[in-house]
Amino acid sequence: MPDEADLGNDQAEKALAASLKAQLGRAGLVYKGRCYYCDTPTPQGQNFCDVDCRDDFERLEWARKMGPV
Ligand SMILES: [Zn+2]
Repeated sequence: MPDEADLGNDQAEKALAASLKAQLGRAGLVYKGRCYYCDTPTPQGQNFCDVDCRDDFERLEWARKMGPV
């Protein structure tokens, strides 16, 4: 029954997208296994390899939000 399988996948994808979106909204970043700034592999649940990378990344994000001066 291909129709039911398709429906199931669609629902699962929607649920995944929703939870991903909620995660993004709450924390701003989703764990991807690598430092968001320098791309070094990071331990589970860590978005940056150290605080310097986090600070630099936040500075970049802030500058991006401000837009070109
Ligand atoms: Zn880093």
